[in-house]
Amino acid sequence: MSINQSGWRPEAPQTGNADAPTFTGNRALMLEEPLIFEIGSTETTGVDFDDSGAPAQGHKLGNLVRTAPIGLPGLSEPEAVRHYTRLSRQNYAIDLGLFPLGSCTMKHNPRLNEKVARLPGFADIHPLAPVDTVQGALGVINELAFWLIGLTGMYGVAMSPKAGAHGELCGILCIKAALEKRGEGHRKVVLVPESAHGTNPATAAFAGFTVEDIPATAEGRVDLAALKARLGQDVAAVMITNPNTCGLFERDMKAISDAVHAVGGYVYCDGANFNAIVGRVRPGDLGVDAMHINLHKTFSTPHGGGGPGSGPVVLSEALAPFGPLPFTARYEDGHIRLIEEETAGEDHPDSFGRMTAFHGQMGMFTRALAYILSHGADGLKQVAEDAVLNANYMLRSLDDVLDAPFGPSGPCMHEALFSDEGFAEGFTTLDVAKALIDEGYHPMTMYFPLVVHGAMLVEPTETESKAALDQFIGALRSVAARAKTGDESLKTAPHFAPRRRLDETLAARKPVLVWSDPALAQAAE
Ligand SMILES: *Cc1c(COP(=O)(O)O)cnc(C)c1O
Repeated sequence: MSINQSGWRPEAPQTGNADAPTFTGNRALMLEEPLIFEIGSTETTGVDFDDSGAPAQGHKLGNLVRTAPIGLPGLSEPEAVRHYTRLSRQNYAIDLGLFPLGSCTMKHNPRLNEKVARLPGFADIHPLAPVDTVQGALGVINELAFWLIGLTGMYGVAMSPKAGAHGELCGILCIKAALEKRGEGHRKVVLVPESAHGTNPATAAFAGFTVEDIPATAEGRVDLAALKARLGQDVAAVMITNPNTCGLFERDMKAISDAVHAVGGYVYCDGANFNAIVGRVRPGDLGVDAMHINLHKTFSTPHGGGGPGSGPVVLSEALAPFGPLPFTARYEDGHIRLIEEETAGEDHPDSFGRMTAFHGQMGMFTRALAYILSHGADGLKQVAEDAVLNANYMLRSLDDVLDAPFGPSGPCMHEALFSDEGFAEGFTTLDVAKALIDEGYHPMTMYFPLVVHGAMLVEPTETESKAALDQFIGALRSVAARAKTGDESLKTAPHFAPRRRLDETLAARKPVLVWSDPALAQAAE
């Protein structure tokens, strides 16, 4: 089948260089790729099947036998492979370059992790295999649990949650179960600082709590006095991110925990930013009752387009009995049991239930444990120190061209926060982000946290070299200077990307998620 038959118009309306349009719409290695439905037709097939003879009998398929064409495009193997390879080349990845997305900790995933995760004893087993046949895999879960408890100074850990937000829900459900057990289910308020990640209030609301804001001080930290003033018998918990989303350490964390405990509430810590303090601070020592850890951030397992997340939740002694099933326990003879029942006695009578059908993200557990063991406790401490050093290098290399609202508060933790203060009239953070795409970078996190106008949150992580940091700093300095002088070409950036400025509002409000065959649409008319 030729490309033209598939209805792909060889013109380059918004992508090509207007001065030198190409027949294909391609620009050298930047290939213009239509939808898979536009390349393959639903009338053709990429494979030869023998005629199956008698039509399938409806009753054998529960009367679900297909009566209409399936509507999938028929493609040969090379066509399908090329399609996805071409699309993958239009993506940005941590394996391609620095990924400064603040709060996301986009660090390099060491290839040793991948090698370990692919060992057949971990990769090819079934979650329902008898526990005696998978002691090694259960041992990985148990060993990782041991490390997470040790690094955080907590009492127990729920390994099964599958992302940070899922972990938040797990922690909040533990708090809910603990309150109900105490006969204090009437506590309905969860206090969340203004600068919180959006998942925090969403989690509390989803679990049936009422969310109330806690203001920040001028220096970007939780206002302890305002928090204390709001505490009372209706407060179930506070949810605090530490280090917070302004990239600052909450120095009053212990005082906050003590005040919350004094009125009978619990302290949830959003631990997504643990990378900045791993090996240096144990949240358990600060009075935290529950905290999720994003293995896919701190412990390098791939995320974003690169893989699933994993969000184990460490728990205090007060909350551990309410944690979800299943979990592992190592017996003195070395045998590892999988505790799956909430029966009374030696098992787990107060568990609130399950977060997942099985054990959690096994592939992420093996990667995270490989990462932890290859660093060792001293190496993990160095990770935190280098991550903070790199972020401060960013902050101080840019704060003469970009406004750093909390720069005067002292060093930052793992990420540097800038505002759009000082940009020329009409120039925005969005323009800066788009111009960074032309420079070959994924933009930083923008317009978050909400407490800063036009926020730009840059998190380099420890896995970048000084040369890589310097190149990014050079690019951002150049773009920032253009925003300040009001360079009009910034308003139409990106100039070199396959797509320019899309109507992002329309895309978000009215997403077109289903392809419909234009031929069918025409026939219907
Ligand atoms: C990433 C992140 C989350 C959510 O984690 P997911 O794994 O994406 O669900 C929550 N809070 C903060 C501060 C984060 O950075």
